[in-house]
Amino acid sequence: MSETWTVKKILDWTHLYFKDKNVSEPRLGAELMLAEVLNCKRIELYVQFERILTADERSTYREMVKRRSTHEPVQYILGETEFMGLPFRVDKSVLIPRPETELLVDCVIEHNKDKRLSAPAILDIGTGSGCIAVSLAHMLTEASVTALDKSSDAIQTARKNAEANVVTVDFVHADAFHWAAKSQQQFDIIVSNPPYVAEREWDDVMPDVRQFEPKEALLAGQDGLDFYRAFAPLAGKLLKQQGAVFLETGYDQAAGVADMMTNAGFRTSIRQDLNGIDRVVIATRGYAVKEQLEPVLEMIVEKPIDLDLLENEQEIANETDENRE
Ligand code: GLN
Repeated sequence: MSETWTVKKILDWTHLYFKDKNVSEPRLGAELMLAEVLNCKRIELYVQFERILTADERSTYREMVKRRSTHEPVQYILGETEFMGLPFRVDKSVLIPRPETELLVDCVIEHNKDKRLSAPAILDIGTGSGCIAVSLAHMLTEASVTALDKSSDAIQTARKNAEANVVTVDFVHADAFHWAAKSQQQFDIIVSNPPYVAEREWDDVMPDVRQFEPKEALLAGQDGLDFYRAFAPLAGKLLKQQGAVFLETGYDQAAGVADMMTNAGFRTSIRQDLNGIDRVVIATRGYAVKEQLEPVLEMIVEKPIDLDLLENEQEIANETDENRE
């Protein structure tokens, strides 16, 4: 009698096989791939455990299992992932969107709400799959979003993601620093999940990432800080006077990046991700200082002070640095 492969049996088998090969999240990967083959939701597998797979289904699934067993990320095998509840096509030219980056997007949305910006001009540097730019354009329907990437393959993938999610983003294929040096445009919001992995830590990066994701989207010099070092002195040129910068950082980098932005004349705060890791550096210019000072000054003097007289905002920003969150 030939062996019959049911949903349950094949999942159990793959789970063990992946475990043996040290593939991370062995059960989840198996379920996601089988759901793709059977064209159903992952949860629906559980109500058809006894379903018998056809020969075609088995061979399609087997190819996927082979790829996953080499540590290729499930998202590349499926060609798609989800970010901020939206579908994104992913391939080897782009980094797979991470949950931490959803925090970055949340910070921008929150800021936009607080400041009641009606039609912010947003710049996304190193857009990759376009996940940040596209989800911001989706949520902030009045915003005009510009997104840069130096990889033309990434720009192509990002364009498809904008199309699929029915949003308009101005994608520019350019090196951010060359572009910034020439551009006259200024933005209300600059956001970036730049490369930030330290070269000296490359060997510790998990094989799924190290062997499959684009190196140029990950590595940023010996200490992983090359992007921020180049960006900090340019930020002022690209940002409107009342603008704000949102930078994702590596697990041990936020304080150092905040210092770089402080030295460039910004006021900074840091936000933690769900794992309690400092993950996002927010940098703003003078207006935040003014907003804080206004009520205080009003209490001290009867006559309102013209805050524009406070010219040296950098000094003030540095003094209030202790208030960093
Ligand atoms: N968070 C990613 C990782 O852990 C790195 C992303 C990046 O360099 N921007 O691999």
